[in-house]
Amino acid sequence: MGAGLVGSLLSLYLAQRGHEVTIYERRADLRKAGSVEGRSINLALSDRGWRALEGVGIGEEIRRVGIPMYRRVMHDQQGQLSFQPYGQDNQAIYSVSRAGLNRTLLDLAEQNPRIQLRFNEQCLGIDLRANHLELRDTLTGAQHTVPFQQLFGTDGAFSAVRGAMQRTDRFNYSQSYLEYGYKELTIEAGPGGEWPLEKNALHIWPRGQYLMIALPNLDGSFNCTLFFPYEGAHSFAALQTAAQVQAFFEEIFPDALPLMPDLREEFFQNPVGSLVTVRCFPWAFDDNVLLLGDASHAIVPFYGQGMNAGFEDCTVLNELLEHHGNDWSTVFEQFQRQRKPDADAMAELALYNFEEMRDRVADPRFLLQKKIESKIAAQYPGQWLSLYSQVTFSHIPYAEAWANGQRQEQIMRRLMPHIQAEADFAKPAVQTLIRNELAQQERQP
Ligand code: FAD
Repeated sequence: MGAGLVGSLLSLYLAQRGHEVTIYERRADLRKAGSVEGRSINLALSDRGWRALEGVGIGEEIRRVGIPMYRRVMHDQQGQLSFQPYGQDNQAIYSVSRAGLNRTLLDLAEQNPRIQLRFNEQCLGIDLRANHLELRDTLTGAQHTVPFQQLFGTDGAFSAVRGAMQRTDRFNYSQSYLEYGYKELTIEAGPGGEWPLEKNALHIWPRGQYLMIALPNLDGSFNCTLFFPYEGAHSFAALQTAAQVQAFFEEIFPDALPLMPDLREEFFQNPVGSLVTVRCFPWAFDDNVLLLGDASHAIVPFYGQGMNAGFEDCTVLNELLEHHGNDWSTVFEQFQRQRKPDADAMAELALYNFEEMRDRVADPRFLLQKKIESKIAAQYPGQWLSLYSQVTFSHIPYAEAWANGQRQEQIMRRLMPHIQAEADFAKPAVQTLIRNELAQQERQP
């Protein structure tokens, strides 16, 4: 259920294993002209996502239209820039178009004789005892039921499949919204399609309580997202007129404003999106139904991992199917036991990174700490991998990465009082401290 990013990828994995798949999707086919879903919004794709795409043979195709972003570029209120590399040795996250990626996955699904695509079909409910779906044709309003053998709920954060499971005994569910919403805005391409800001970077305007980010597009423009409180002195509620928006951007984002000629229109045309974390369990109902992607673990977008985590769900499910064949009961049970702690950790990490992006990246001490961490990583490659790298450039389970990251943070808290500048890293006392800390870490279970 749901032909979004995760559903369309999952269909390819299932078909690859010889299963017949029908995908039902509430919306119209986004590949058809005039589809409102076709507008270009970018996502950051990283190693977990790449691995899942490579598993169905489309890694290279997507990489060709992705833009590598090697570092964060922070813009302060005076327009001064500071920089933070994402990883070592040319490691990058990639800016890819959500619609473009979804289109490619749907094209592949359509070409596969084992996959049937049914658009304009909305799931209204599920009879979990009789294994029937209740569907509504969104063009005619006609309702019908269809049987299923295995149902995969990939219908996003407001999943109807999960809605049906919520009415079963001992189903745990919580959703929590941030007091912040987001709005998509545009930085226009420069003359001749030039990128008006550094192309191969993710740009951040951290402002303490809120932030704006920008990801590059192939045509020289950037998609910006303003993450902003709903209420308060600086908030969506406080910006009611074009003049107020103009004055606010002049004061707070002065270097971005001249690059946003359509700001005053876009600000009032584009909706404010909400930011929700969804946690639930179990994800499986008997050996018939399984939730994946945002349907089981919607997270806030500040680590750029929602889609990556959903894609990793596909990798993990595929591995379990490889191992257990069509023993769905074992596969579903192991899947949810293995993935739930990782999804919970990722939800925490995403909330943690919100503070980092809106606030800490503007703090010179924080940037110094990150430089010291990368020096430790370079000196002790087997013993220190930054939390960001573990999440973004590795396949270490999220829960393990989060635990490692918290341990590293404790070490840095003890180390940083001895460091006032990058050069202090070489001091014998600092080197001894680091050696001792790492030795102690090795001794811990
Ligand atoms: P969705 O993409 O929501 O797809 C669900 C599909 O199900 C949709 O096509 C929908 O129409 C369909 N559907 C819903 N209800 C029904 C129904 N009743 N019947 C039939 N069909 C239905 N992730 C990253 O990895 N990197 C990023 O940089 C990133 N940035 C983000 C920025 C923002 C502002 C936001 C909000 C999210 C971001 N994410 C990012 C998260 C990412 O968008 C999601 O994790 C991802 O889209 C989840 O994919 P999905 O297929 O599970 O759900």
